[in-house]
Amino acid sequence: MSLSRLKTQRLFRQQCYVNGQWIDAGNGNTVDVDNPADGKVFGTVPSLSEEEILGAIDAAEQGFQVWRKKTAQERADLLMRWYDLMLEHKEDIATLMTLEQGKPLVESRGEVDYAASFIRWFAEEARRVYGETIPGAKPGQHIVVTRQPIGVTAAITPWNFPAAMITRKAGAALAAGCSMIVKPANATPYTALALAELADEAGIPAGVFNVVTGKSSMIGETLTGSAIVRKMSFTGSTEVGSKLMAQCAEHIQKVSLELGGNAPFIVFDDADVERAVEGAMICKFRNTGQTCVCANRFLVQSGIHDKFISRLAEAMGKLKVGDGFEEGVTQSALINHAAVEKVKRHYDDAIDKGARHVAGPAPDGKQGNYVTPVLVTDVTADMEVCADETFGPLAAVIKFDTEEQALKIANDTPYGLAAYFYSRDIHRVWRVADALEAGIIGVNEGAVSNPTAPFGGVKASGLGREGSRHGLDEYTELKYLCMGAE
Ligand code: NAP
Repeated sequence: MSLSRLKTQRLFRQQCYVNGQWIDAGNGNTVDVDNPADGKVFGTVPSLSEEEILGAIDAAEQGFQVWRKKTAQERADLLMRWYDLMLEHKEDIATLMTLEQGKPLVESRGEVDYAASFIRWFAEEARRVYGETIPGAKPGQHIVVTRQPIGVTAAITPWNFPAAMITRKAGAALAAGCSMIVKPANATPYTALALAELADEAGIPAGVFNVVTGKSSMIGETLTGSAIVRKMSFTGSTEVGSKLMAQCAEHIQKVSLELGGNAPFIVFDDADVERAVEGAMICKFRNTGQTCVCANRFLVQSGIHDKFISRLAEAMGKLKVGDGFEEGVTQSALINHAAVEKVKRHYDDAIDKGARHVAGPAPDGKQGNYVTPVLVTDVTADMEVCADETFGPLAAVIKFDTEEQALKIANDTPYGLAAYFYSRDIHRVWRVADALEAGIIGVNEGAVSNPTAPFGGVKASGLGREGSRHGLDEYTELKYLCMGAE
């Protein structure tokens, strides 16, 4: 059992972390957590009641009163301690992540580094929550603008990046002086709870960082239904994000949404094909195709099309499918069987409507939660794969002739998270970068996420930005002081 690999057993927590305490549900209710590699349940977490979630909100309110009074330097030091502990326990956090999420261990280690980097980034930014002074509107008047923490905040996070989707929010919230209640996906609560254990060890005061588990709709309604919670930050599907945004209206809660994508990945005739394939492999197959910034639609210009798909097929042939703990595995189990069925449905629909199979076995849904990467071309706009993110290892290629056609297809989606393109023509680079409707553009680059840059989408892909200096804005309010003349 992979749990025996843990060097620090206390990182495997099957309780919620509220007000600096580890708690069970009063009524003993629990939620099962399984390993996507074999579907076996290996633990449970509490299914907290509404009263217990309200208790967590009160705890976060008390935590906020303590935390906001700390100096920026004190908050930064505690965040840096948390960061150090994450790296110290990288192997254990990665083990828990692979166990509950499935991703290859090497990717889990990478995610711990990536997740911790947000804590470090915001620890550094904590001391730079600057305000401004503005010349007064009347003689002798002074205008001063300060930035204050919003207060108690809540985060609801998805299963595909069980650590980073939390630290990207919590790092900013805590740096700004806010407290936070995190509701991780029930599929992947153990990474979140391990982070809470380390926050505790780092000395972050009780009530400042809390992790609750249970029925997601009830928890969402309770958090958004509370006038104490001043901000909801959600990462997940557009459907749930839209629902939560409506719920936030009741108390005019500030809201940030990091939602679904449908990224185009355009390869123009003048691209460096080797770099484009390299970028495509990272972009499409990282996390076995389960990232919100995954290339969902490859758009390849006719002059380079055959060369690109032959090189891509070759690179895909080197991917190894298997249990995330197995050495050399690059493609692990998908999160559950519904995810497998979705890849199969998109593939079958594309083939039925005239797409051409290029490489990889046709997904048949009979290999448990595993899907071997598959490549199809001659994809057209009427196919399901063009309308909806596949979230799995299906590479779907659309052939196009002109730049105008490519842009029209690329922007023909309600989503606008990431878009990628490969070209060596500087004029085209600017034209296409300007015209693509997305919050993040990879130009000759397939890996776009890092803590220093603002991450977020336009259109139905969300509101607000995470990471970068802008990430802090989501957790502060401007306060304007009008200092009258003598
Ligand atoms: P999801 O079904 O929307 O779930 C996300 C989170 O919301 C989970 O914690 C889930 O809890 C919770 N949830 C579900 N229904 C809820 C409700 N009615 N009220 C409150 N919370 C609720 O999305 P997912 O399938 O886990 O994640 C994949 C999606 O996330 C994809 O669309 C992907 O593109 C998107 N994503 C976006 C970004 C980004 O930065 N833009 C990053 C990563 C993922 P339970 O699972 O416990 O029910």
